[in-house]
Amino acid sequence: MTVQPPRLRRILLVEDDPVHSRVVAKWLSAAGYAVTAVESFALAAAALKSRWDAIVCDCDLPDGNGLEIARIAKLAYPRLPFILVTAGRQAERVVQAVRYGIDDMMLKMAPLRREHLLARLAELIDATDEPYETVLAIGAHPDDVEIGCGGALLQHVQNGHRVVILTLSQGAAGGDVAQRVLEAQAAAKKLGAELILGDLPDTQVAENGSTIDLIQKAVAAFAPTRVYTHSVNDLHQDHRNAARASLSATRGVPRVACYQAPSATVDFRPTMFVDIQQQLEQKLALLNEYQSQCVKAPYLAPEQIRANARYWSKYTASEGAEPFEVVRACA
Ligand SMILES: [Zn+2]
Repeated sequence: MTVQPPRLRRILLVEDDPVHSRVVAKWLSAAGYAVTAVESFALAAAALKSRWDAIVCDCDLPDGNGLEIARIAKLAYPRLPFILVTAGRQAERVVQAVRYGIDDMMLKMAPLRREHLLARLAELIDATDEPYETVLAIGAHPDDVEIGCGGALLQHVQNGHRVVILTLSQGAAGGDVAQRVLEAQAAAKKLGAELILGDLPDTQVAENGSTIDLIQKAVAAFAPTRVYTHSVNDLHQDHRNAARASLSATRGVPRVACYQAPSATVDFRPTMFVDIQQQLEQKLALLNEYQSQCVKAPYLAPEQIRANARYWSKYTASEGAEPFEVVRACA
């Protein structure tokens, strides 16, 4: 049984009073949180591009209102715990706080108490926490995984999950191997994933034997809680065989889903859609690492990737999504 390390919780502290900021940051750090303190509305708004486990925000900032930070944050991340620290209990503020879905308001001059703040933070983070995951993403060739589920993988990394990419072949049929390996390594590094590069023969990936062995070794080494792999509904023989081998080798994994490759057939029938609107630009940056393929593969064109994400978003409330055929979804 693999014991997963506890995930470091990241708190954004927005406070313009340097003394107050230092005191609260010290409380949070001593409680084991990773704290990033900013002192203005502008810096807080910019920091919302990153993923946080909770935000503790002063209401009265020199260049704006903490309530507006709450509105923007809750719009992007509705479940993100948000505690507003305010000097006054004006009714108008309370009404806005409720409207924006702020989780708690604390009075600065009450005074703000360490035990109370830490207890509420722990309670709110626990309530919204997702279980720790180890994700194994399997692709027959370099770039398959990033095209099919790059957005979902970015989201896993941003949620603190471990992501491992297993690429079965080094893509000799699609170009110079040395360059393709470098591109795969650069994309994995940018994604924040570990990369395992197999050496199966490109265009001749088998559906059993060495392919199942390779995947089984990765499953044994990383004990994934979730696997993303190819679909059998694909025109490319390597993709179909990688899908079939994956289904055998990952039979003990609780959650398995198949992503869409550009060579998917019309029989590809997804039932799970991951909102990647926030990750779409980063996904394009990952694909941009594959320069040897970008010049000749129209399916890597940014407008094609954007159009595909936009198309599947019709099943979500977002403007960009990745589709998956669900093989197994154990609760
Ligand atoms: Zn491929």
